[in-house]
Amino acid sequence: MKSSHSTEIALVGAGLCGSLLAIFLARRGFEVKVFEKRPDMRRIKQSGGRSINLALSHRGIRALEKVQIADHILQNAIPMYGRLLHDLGGDLTFVPYGKNRSEYINSISRAGLNMELMNIAESYEQVEFFFGQECEKIDFETGRLYFKESGKTELSVVDAQVIIGTDGAGSVIRQAMLDLDGYQGSTQFLEHGYKELTIPASETGSFVIEENGLHIWPRGSFMLIALPNPDGSFTCTLFLANQGAEGFEGLQHPNQISDFFQKYFPDAYRLMPDLVTEFLQNPVGLLGTVKCAPWSADNRALVLGDAAHAIVPFYGQGMNASFEDCLVLDQCIEAYGKDWGKVFSHFEALRKENTDAIAALAIENFYEMRDGVADETFLKVRRLEHLLENQYPDYHSKYSLVTFHPDITYAQARQRGNLQNEILLEVCRQIDAIEEVNLEILYQKLKEKIGF
Ligand code: FAD
Repeated sequence: MKSSHSTEIALVGAGLCGSLLAIFLARRGFEVKVFEKRPDMRRIKQSGGRSINLALSHRGIRALEKVQIADHILQNAIPMYGRLLHDLGGDLTFVPYGKNRSEYINSISRAGLNMELMNIAESYEQVEFFFGQECEKIDFETGRLYFKESGKTELSVVDAQVIIGTDGAGSVIRQAMLDLDGYQGSTQFLEHGYKELTIPASETGSFVIEENGLHIWPRGSFMLIALPNPDGSFTCTLFLANQGAEGFEGLQHPNQISDFFQKYFPDAYRLMPDLVTEFLQNPVGLLGTVKCAPWSADNRALVLGDAAHAIVPFYGQGMNASFEDCLVLDQCIEAYGKDWGKVFSHFEALRKENTDAIAALAIENFYEMRDGVADETFLKVRRLEHLLENQYPDYHSKYSLVTFHPDITYAQARQRGNLQNEILLEVCRQIDAIEEVNLEILYQKLKEKIGF
């Protein structure tokens, strides 16, 4: 064995969370080495990464603002002002995300964002990235990490004072913690998987459907969504049961795939010339929720981001929550300095109930997007909330609390949002048109029950 490096802080995983965390830590003056199993994506184009584009919203943006890179990052994002629901006949309904066009989410390229975060992190002289380094083993007591380098048989060794696992949903750092006494963890998979497909740009490079929205084709037990890319294309994601004749298992042949799309997504089908080839080529991704506790070991190691709490993507919050982790960890370091035991325990105390809450919200939103958004009562609730949000500045819908109000924690947003929804659903089930509702009385009732 050879000891190749020693460092103050070793980050394992240079994904979205690891790269942003390197920036936060560098600004506090720490020496940081980041070890990534894949090659450097800025030099070698990679395929098969998870999700081509992502929705970046206020919680993520707030973390980027803290390190003064939000404006720079957002230059490459496309605003999405609401959901565009496609019915079977191809008719569209627009459901705004916020109370007006100042509240929107941003479609951004995952690879572009990751590369930019790496570039910014590397501009700090105390940050160094090492690629093609897959962490295989870890000794929490000594702070020793063992890496398999691509092309080499001998493991390289890194000695670190502090180890932070930002190595995603399949984290080896989490796995090593789970081998210790008293640690617990689980990964729960949905029965649905996902596959990415494309609606290309027109011949002139323009968007062939509305650019500034998140398109959804809700079809009961499954759905297709599409997010815009700066080159005029849309990345579509089909969320579908893994098993069954109308699941990924049953869609194996070109005619089965074409028939399925013609039947359920006829307007999208006409815009997807490479559908069958892409469908057969692209992998089916798993959708899982990761939980574990505690998040730290020996006052030396911590997991955060997807490594600690991967969630299903239906609230568009996994990366946003991971960026919020970086911000909260930074606040804990500000409060407790290098007393890592305290930093880690306070971080977990602040974050765990919130990441559990967004995990639950994300699963709830899967059912809402899949079958709820096309439902008449749901649409009434959204229209009613839109009126409330515009008339009463202190009223915010559940989606808005989660997405646009980072001062309210995920746990508070879930509790308040679910209570509001119950009250509004009750009202909307009893009316034919929302004009029948006395807004002032409803607002007072909500205020009294929820106490905002
Ligand atoms: P990752 O991005 O997974 O990065 C982990 C890194 O660690 C990778 O680079 C990996 O190569 C590296 N690594 C792994 N193992 C090792 C090892 N042993 N040694 C060294 N390196 C290692 N979130 C949103 O906020 N908005 C969205 O719209 C959104 N959409 C999504 C759509 C889909 C289909 C999916 C699957 C997820 C989506 N997410 C979204 C969630 C988001 O992708 C994750 O929450 C985010 O990537 C977490 O970042 P991370 O850095 O913790 O993990």
